[in-house]
Amino acid sequence: MFISEIYHSRQGEGFLTGTPSVLVRTSGCNLRCGFCDTPFASWNPEGKRLTVPEILDAVGQAALVELPAMQRQSAGQNSSMNDFSAGGFGWTEEAAAADEPTRHVILTGGEPMMQRDIVELCRTLHAAKFHITMETAGTIEHELDCDLMSISPKLSNSDPEIGRAGEWLAKHREARHRPEVVGQLIQRHEYQLKFVVSQPSDLDEILAYLDAVGDFDPARVLLMPEGIRQHDLDQREQWLMPLCEQHGFKLCRRLHIAWYGNSRRT
Ligand code: SF4
Repeated sequence: MFISEIYHSRQGEGFLTGTPSVLVRTSGCNLRCGFCDTPFASWNPEGKRLTVPEILDAVGQAALVELPAMQRQSAGQNSSMNDFSAGGFGWTEEAAAADEPTRHVILTGGEPMMQRDIVELCRTLHAAKFHITMETAGTIEHELDCDLMSISPKLSNSDPEIGRAGEWLAKHREARHRPEVVGQLIQRHEYQLKFVVSQPSDLDEILAYLDAVGDFDPARVLLMPEGIRQHDLDQREQWLMPLCEQHGFKLCRRLHIAWYGNSRRT
């Protein structure tokens, strides 16, 4: 498998926010989102080839490494950022600290579902008693072992600029919209559906997307503000929170930005 990085940190988004976890970042993606914050695993994939046993070994080692220190870039200045349970995930810093070393693994990317050995990797990690979260854009399906399918379907706000994307613009548009795949994934797994929201009008597209998915639980739909700077995230949260309440969805904060800034291996 083509692997960009393996490291120990905390889950920054979603139901398991704050959980100490080993992140396995696969390299390579079938999409080219304009807002992608991991271009080294998508636009310009980098990394090295590792076998499944080598990945398992690296995960075991990373799980024992001390967690990175939190910088709390703006958490102390913004009262809403101190209320970690406000996003509905009930996490406390004490709970996270008590959970080391971790048995949680996050498979992320890039797009981990496009890796040839992903089914074998999940089987191997599960056999070793790791809890697996799969972070995927929901365009590819496999039958595999996974404890939390974390799906982030990509909307039209993800389309890249033509000057940057060239022929990838058409490929991206053709590949990103797979509500039938998302419908299969949520039938098979525990799940969360995480939509990146840039502007209030994105809600219409999200509601249409969910209609196409079919049967879903609104309490498992998370709306996440787009952005890699705390200031932008804070501003978008202001209008996103009422929209979440209106539709019975949850606000999904990007707390890794508050803890570490937009930096790699955090
Ligand atoms: S799907 Fe994810 S990794 Fe791939 S280009 Fe989009 S944001 Fe980046």
